[in-house]
Amino acid sequence: MSKVALVTGAAGGIGRATAIRFAQAGANVMVSDVNMEGLEETVSIIAGQGGAARLHRADVSQEADVSALVEATVAAFGGLDWAFNNAGIIGPLTGLADTSIEDFDRVIAVNLRSIFLCMKAELAVMGPKGSGSIVNTASETVLKGNAGPAAYTASKRGVQGLTEHCALEWAASGIRINSVAPGAIVTPMTLAMRAQKERPSPQPNGRRGEAHEIAEAVYWLCSDASSNVIGHMLVADGGWAIS
Ligand code: NAD
Repeated sequence: MSKVALVTGAAGGIGRATAIRFAQAGANVMVSDVNMEGLEETVSIIAGQGGAARLHRADVSQEADVSALVEATVAAFGGLDWAFNNAGIIGPLTGLADTSIEDFDRVIAVNLRSIFLCMKAELAVMGPKGSGSIVNTASETVLKGNAGPAAYTASKRGVQGLTEHCALEWAASGIRINSVAPGAIVTPMTLAMRAQKERPSPQPNGRRGEAHEIAEAVYWLCSDASSNVIGHMLVADGGWAIS
């Protein structure tokens, strides 16, 4: 029986690559984002490869949008097996003193509150059937204090906190919750940052990672191949964290 997968932030970058990977594994995939143009492109790539995908617009910081997204997924495909909670923003590349309260709150809402909202809605579906796998997108900033701006770092450390807490809460229920920590990956987000300030890759392997390399890590965490892995942050960063 085909798995049903949900991916947020799927209009490009890591989310799109993972949605494609899930579809290649035979899953029916619901892709979501606020960028409809990008989402349509993702659906068309998956369809072009013979996969099954539907799209649904949702702002992950909004409870009503997230509830409607999960409902739409269940309505479209009859359940929910894998959820990749991945949408995120970097926020302003400023120091703390120059970060406004509005910017701080926005980064926390999109990166962190979203994980709370998504997991709450997803677990309401997975809980009663006692199976499912959730992966949240953390970041190198969970391990290194200077890998991103302050609000971003705070949000991603919160993501890891929620991941570990919920992983334990649900461990005995047949539901596995993990996270992925990408290093420096080539995506629209980082291309925009590099347009402001070009820097050599911080990854010791001497290059930036590709979105499909993160997709493989996420797919593994969702698949039964990682059946004894719970509350783990899978670091895919070319060795950056240990440098
Ligand atoms: P990206 O900008 O291509 O993807 C992020 C997606 O999230 C975009 O499609 C964007 O439209 C969407 N999004 C933004 N706000 C949203 C909202 N309120 N509701 C729904 N969707 C929203 O960048 P990416 O690098 O693929 O980022 C994916 C995730 O990976 C993010 O959580 C990011 O923080 C994380 N990450 C990326 C890197 C990297 O080097 N690229 C490193 C560590 C972590």
